[in-house]
Amino acid sequence: MKKLITGLLLASSFLASAAQTEFTPKQLKQVEQLKENISKSNLSFNILESLTTEIGPRLPGSKNDALAVAWAQAKFKELGFDKVWIEKATFPKWQRFSESGKILTPSEQPLHLTALGNSVSTPKEGITAAVVLFETLDELIAAPKDSLKGKIAYINYKMNRHIDGNGYGPAVKARSNGAVEAAKKGAIAYMMRSVSTAHHRFAHTGGSHYQAGVKKIPNVTIANPDADQIARLVALNKNVTVNINVQTKNYGEGTSYNVIGQFNGSENPEQYVLIGGHLDSWDLGTGALDDGAGVALTMAAAKHISDIKRPKRSIRVVLFAAEELGLWGAKAYFKQHETELDKIVAAAESDFGADVVYGFESNVNAASLPVVRAIAKQLASLNVQYIGKNSAKGGPDLIPLKNTTNAPIFELHQDGTDYFDYHHTADDTLDKVNPDKLRQNTASYAVFALMAADAKTTIKAKPTQ
Ligand SMILES: [Zn+2]
Repeated sequence: MKKLITGLLLASSFLASAAQTEFTPKQLKQVEQLKENISKSNLSFNILESLTTEIGPRLPGSKNDALAVAWAQAKFKELGFDKVWIEKATFPKWQRFSESGKILTPSEQPLHLTALGNSVSTPKEGITAAVVLFETLDELIAAPKDSLKGKIAYINYKMNRHIDGNGYGPAVKARSNGAVEAAKKGAIAYMMRSVSTAHHRFAHTGGSHYQAGVKKIPNVTIANPDADQIARLVALNKNVTVNINVQTKNYGEGTSYNVIGQFNGSENPEQYVLIGGHLDSWDLGTGALDDGAGVALTMAAAKHISDIKRPKRSIRVVLFAAEELGLWGAKAYFKQHETELDKIVAAAESDFGADVVYGFESNVNAASLPVVRAIAKQLASLNVQYIGKNSAKGGPDLIPLKNTTNAPIFELHQDGTDYFDYHHTADDTLDKVNPDKLRQNTASYAVFALMAADAKTTIKAKPTQ
């Protein structure tokens, strides 16, 4: 027991000394001041309110998307960022015009549906056909060739609720590839249960794609209660026919812009901490949770840091374009900056709603871990726990970065228990955001970004194998 206690004492004094060598007492005081200032500020909520009220939905390539790009540049300037600029991104532009659905047999009933992004239109009168139910995408893939001729393929897969959103990945496979697999079997349309944990009657949209050489068929999701209804009817051995009607348009290549704001570092301004979110959203709601919150809280975090000091390295806020249609802004950003990715000393994206941050995780080399632990120590008073696995994945817009190089990626894990109740629906609106929780997110990002930018040691990625 005595040995253990001595060991613990040694370990904690080692941690304390690591924090001291990375940060002076003055710097640690500044971190305290930063937390104090944010606890009394409504800045992130005010930014979010402005974006979701004055612009609203921001589908890539839409008029609102262009308005959002102008809004973001003006907001960065208003907040006093040293440098504000835009970088072009292109993507396949798509728009939804109208959508409706009905169950026709065994009795007529409304069907709440929405087109998935990229879906082609039905004929003007819609498509009326019998529904063939599969529980999973694999089950559909295993169906005999031509067995769905003239039918609507339907996947009934239910995603599970979890704090880290781990039900999303397995469920989203049916959204990405369902229409392609259904068309291969001869189906004339594809329908799926929403990728959702909700009980409300909204359908959840999302990205989908077609495959060259496979017929493009209309591609829709239905609300969870409607999915339950269809499943019950099929279980009763009823011949279930539905009419689905979606009117959409694919325009070919569209253009938007990543909007970037930077506070320059005082010693090594070319090195920077990258934080941000994506500026675009789906067209159904106002994109408050996805991802207005990430935009607002990272803009506010940087501004709060600048009120305290200019850390050694720069703080760069990147608002990525066209994430929802396939990470197009992020692909453009990391391509354009391909030769200087080693200037990124830490990267974190907030794109998981606005519930509290509960965990802090790094993905860095061993020499950077004392800095990470010192940051974790300062996050503890915000109820953020240190997750010591050192294998953070980061937000979706960091995927193109990880695909290019090993980068020092961080994750401020948010509670996503309720995120998929609202995700990609008409119900993703400002009232779902709790100002206190958004403040806690803002403070967590600000503490992380300030300390990563101001540490004695420059944080580095794990060495490439
Ligand atoms: Zn998002």
